[in-house]
Amino acid sequence: MEKILFLSHTEATGRLSAHALEALGAAVHLRERTGGELVIGLFGGRVETSQVSGTVFSVSGEAFAASRYATDAAAGEQLCKAAGATLVIAPATSRMSRVFSGIAARCGACVDSHVAGLQVKDEALVVTRWYYRQRLQAEMTRASRPWFISIDAGVFEQFKGPGNVIVEQISPAVDASMMRTSVTGIQAPAVGEQTIKPDATALFVAGAGWTKKQADGRSHVAEAADLILGFLKKSGASLGSTKSLVDLQGEGQEVLPFMTHLNQVGQTGATPRHQKGLAACCHGEEPHVVGWRFINERRAINLDANCGWARGKADVLYVADAFQVMEQVNKLLSE
Ligand SMILES: Cc1cc2nc3c(=O)[nH]c(=O)nc-3n(C[C@H](O)[C@H](O)[C@H](O)COP(=O)(O)OP(=O)(O)OC[C@H]3O[C@@H](n4cnc5c(N)ncnc54)[C@H](O)[C@@H]3O)c2cc1C
Repeated sequence: MEKILFLSHTEATGRLSAHALEALGAAVHLRERTGGELVIGLFGGRVETSQVSGTVFSVSGEAFAASRYATDAAAGEQLCKAAGATLVIAPATSRMSRVFSGIAARCGACVDSHVAGLQVKDEALVVTRWYYRQRLQAEMTRASRPWFISIDAGVFEQFKGPGNVIVEQISPAVDASMMRTSVTGIQAPAVGEQTIKPDATALFVAGAGWTKKQADGRSHVAEAADLILGFLKKSGASLGSTKSLVDLQGEGQEVLPFMTHLNQVGQTGATPRHQKGLAACCHGEEPHVVGWRFINERRAINLDANCGWARGKADVLYVADAFQVMEQVNKLLSE
């Protein structure tokens, strides 16, 4: 019988992020499919247990508040050893991903990252993982244990069954050599408001066309910025960009001030997951559209009836002026 450990850091509030709750959902799914046992291991500055149920091994305290390799690895190692698990499931957050393989090495375990599916076939656990920027999908299994598996965001339902907990506090030894790295602050993109929202239902992607000369022979960048920000505010959509639009900054052209390379979707950008997507003033070239792999319903607005979206890349293409369309959309959303 598999003994499963769900392992995660907490957020500054002591609670689990949406991504961590999805990975916990995956661990519960696995327990149901394998008939195994599930325990929980949490570490952080504060550890709250109101979102989980069952046996919780907890490491908390000021030394574990910041994302620091030495202390996170010590916490993870002690939690894994206390649980004695054969399978360890964790969210592939940046904090967890930095330290997960190190914890696996300390526990003599195998590790697979960015897993996007868990199945049981012929009584063996089979994980699904993407390769080559989501072009190839592989199914893999391993006989050796312990097996550490980190789960990508947006794949599993969040765990929503908090219940009774039994908490066992663990206190890994922390010495001065482990505290040499200190977090002095967080640098986030200099944007007036948060435009990247992984949990939004819809993604709005802006292309370079917003900054190009329009029918009157002039560009209308300020107007474009108002229309885009207005739509984001009213719809709650997340903001994506094409590479061309974010690259314009380096070319000295007038740009949308709130757009950074972090917004870029595509082969050399992000592969976000949202239910719906709307692209405007974006041509729909393959290196961009490959980033839309996990967008289920796709629409685009383009003046060019022969753009890439028209060639099977969108469910609906509006051949129209995006300035006019988005003005109308914003009006309708305001009503
Ligand atoms: C190795 C490699 C990796 C790459 N990686 C990425 C990547 O990760 N992401 C990415 O995005 N690109 C990537 N690219 C670049 C990609 O091939 C395209 O060049 C880029 O996506 C084009 O951006 P765009 O559609 O915004 O701009 P453009 O191609 O300039 O298209 C602008 C569009 O706006 C439309 N338009 C203009 N005005 C209006 C209006 N008023 N209303 C409606 N439509 C209007 C035009 O008809 C046009 O179709 C990569 C390229 C290579 C070679």
